[in-house]
Amino acid sequence: MNRVWKRALERLDQQIALAHLALVPERPALLIFMFHVLFEDERVPARHLVDPQQHITTRIFAEFITYYQAHGYAFVAPADVLAGLDPGGKYVLITFDDGYYNNHLALPILRRYGVPATFFISTHHVQANRAFWWDVVYRERQRRPLSPADQQAEHALLKTLRHDEVDDYLRAHFGEACLQPVSDLDRPFTPAELRAFAREPEVVLGNHTAHHAVLTNYAPPAAQQELAECQQYLAQLTGSAPVAVAYPNGNHSPAVLAAAAQVGLQLGTTVQAGKNYLPLTPQAGCLQLKRFLLWGNQDVQAQCALFRTDFHLKQLLRPARA
Ligand SMILES: [Zn+2]
Repeated sequence: MNRVWKRALERLDQQIALAHLALVPERPALLIFMFHVLFEDERVPARHLVDPQQHITTRIFAEFITYYQAHGYAFVAPADVLAGLDPGGKYVLITFDDGYYNNHLALPILRRYGVPATFFISTHHVQANRAFWWDVVYRERQRRPLSPADQQAEHALLKTLRHDEVDDYLRAHFGEACLQPVSDLDRPFTPAELRAFAREPEVVLGNHTAHHAVLTNYAPPAAQQELAECQQYLAQLTGSAPVAVAYPNGNHSPAVLAAAAQVGLQLGTTVQAGKNYLPLTPQAGCLQLKRFLLWGNQDVQAQCALFRTDFHLKQLLRPARA
């Protein structure tokens, strides 16, 4: 389909979805949102110290919370989901991936609105004060640019590697020191900061593997080891092991789900977009829940409205499956 038609169809889909939302009550669901970097204000991304990813500022984060509170959503933590949500309710679960120190900027906002958030931590980055590979690439490629196609290919390649292979690639291309964070913007929490952060009543910690491991690139025992190491470190740091996991890059398989269950994880989040309709079905379990991405550089209110809709034109256009 050509781009112009595709865009026109998307716009029509959005208009129909919003009209549907105005006419038909929403189906009860759990909406899970995934955030990464949090910026203090709009000027900070221009410093180019960290991959801006979704361009989320504290102002946009607060706007997102007030939107869902105004529309009758209750904010929950993983333990609330596991205890069982009211099947007629509307819920939001906020998640932050990776363990960036800049996520501490969320705390005053969570307190102000009285809502919890779950922070999925890649624990080796915290232990070793390591930069995340995509931030290394983001920084280095400003100095040594690639074509957009080559840059995309480089990202795709790095997502197929195990963590030691990623480190080898980065060192070979950008030098020994490249894995060091360069600022408070791109660094992970220190262990002491994370321990203090975890004591806050609004904060829940979750598993994001030891080395930000894309688990489907590992043999099952090694994948389980990545999850187990993260569990053990967080249990030792905070006094309790997480019950929730975010699979890095969203990659999971039956073996990964089994490994997660084996180490005591009960709620798992992917990067597939969509509402999690209630009641959550026991056969699919809580180990592969969908998550939405909010973009700070697009219309926030329109995105928040679209995430609530239950009708999409593309569902009608999709070929029927037997
Ligand atoms: Zn991640």
